[in-house]
Amino acid sequence: MDIINSDSRGITILGSTGSIGVNTLDVIKRHSERFHVVALTAHRDSKRLFQQCVEFQPAFAVLVDAEKAPGLQQRLEASGCGTQLLTGVEGLERVAALAEVDYVMAAIVGAAGLLPTLAAVRAGKRILLANKEALVMSGQLFMKEVHDHGAQLLPIDSEHNAVYQCLPVGFERGLSKVGVERIVLTASGGPFRDTPLEALREVTPEQACAHPNWVMGRKISVDSATMMNKGLEVIEACWLFNTQPDQVDVVLHPQSVIHSLAVYADGSVLAQLGNPDMRTPIAHALAWPERLSSGVKPLDLIKVARLDFDAPDLDRFPCLRLAREALEAGGTATAILNAANEVAVASFLQKRIAFMDIPIVIDSTLESLDSRPADSLDVVLEADRLARQIAHQTLPRLAS
Ligand code: NAD
Ligand code: MG
Repeated sequence: MDIINSDSRGITILGSTGSIGVNTLDVIKRHSERFHVVALTAHRDSKRLFQQCVEFQPAFAVLVDAEKAPGLQQRLEASGCGTQLLTGVEGLERVAALAEVDYVMAAIVGAAGLLPTLAAVRAGKRILLANKEALVMSGQLFMKEVHDHGAQLLPIDSEHNAVYQCLPVGFERGLSKVGVERIVLTASGGPFRDTPLEALREVTPEQACAHPNWVMGRKISVDSATMMNKGLEVIEACWLFNTQPDQVDVVLHPQSVIHSLAVYADGSVLAQLGNPDMRTPIAHALAWPERLSSGVKPLDLIKVARLDFDAPDLDRFPCLRLAREALEAGGTATAILNAANEVAVASFLQKRIAFMDIPIVIDSTLESLDSRPADSLDVVLEADRLARQIAHQTLPRLAS
């Protein structure tokens, strides 16, 4: 076994086999003297998890799907890899809170990331937060736990990471205290920005997942195509930056070069620019407050040549309006929004409903359930469960 440098940071990557997980390992590999992997986790992809264990030799791996675990266990033993294999959500929570872990990359997709990410928060870790759904579901609770346990929260979502980079240290006390009046989140508009509205009914999951600027997991790719992703990000921004919904603007910016902006009281507007590559925010959050190379090519402004901006069209992107309405309603409404969206997106990816049915499922779920104060984890999880049930009941009406 290699001797670990005492300054080296131990890292757990929740969701290591996904797009963010793979990019995180790429950055870590470039700085093996500064970071070592303590645990890697996957839902079902035992093949990729095995390859990652062989390469990074973590002390622990978690395969949530217990049925596939014996096969992986055998392969790990046969390869001489000393990794201990755990299963289930308990396994995720355990590796998120291990004493030898300093940083936790929260990169599980969807509500499934909430409990393990909260376990890392409660253990006072540095959380690199990609799993925006956790914050959308439980923002009030989540931020309180961060505060109570002295955890450090660094945003990985490129827009929030950009805003973070444009804010001075100390913004936690509120944006107005540091002279910031507004935040502007940029959005590419996804693959259907210019598709004729009538044609949107017929679009396929493959077309929806073909994002013009980013390579991402399938769920967030569909969210980008409906612009629910930007809606979730407005909610995420309000919690992360302790700000009001009407202080968070969304601007279409098809080139995805400006990742977001902070508007100061004196008229200054600070922006963070870069090639669209998630290794930049990942390296930023791993190294903060220092800087590290990430493997991302420097931005060539001459090649970029022009930057365009436009207002988002809410008729084309009703999900953005639904997200803002849920945010205004407050309480469990955003957990309901998130759960209904997850059900609708999964059904669209399975070709059970059409693309334009996604906002219909979400709207009717939000209409069916009252929002309650989201002041305990039980209340949030119950809202999530009920919303999934109602959203599922809506599907047969839509499926053709
Ligand atoms: P992905 O689908 O590529 O990967 C998801 C990961 O989560 C995989 O490792 C998978 O095994 C794991 N997972 C899925 N379901 C699980 C479950 N039920 N229990 C435990 N683990 C489970 O997704 P991604 O694109 O890497 O996105 C991950 C998160 O990061 C999402 O919340 C997304 O919104 C956010 N994010 C992603 C990007 C991006 O560029 N990919 C950018 C910003 C934010
Ligand atoms: Mg984003």
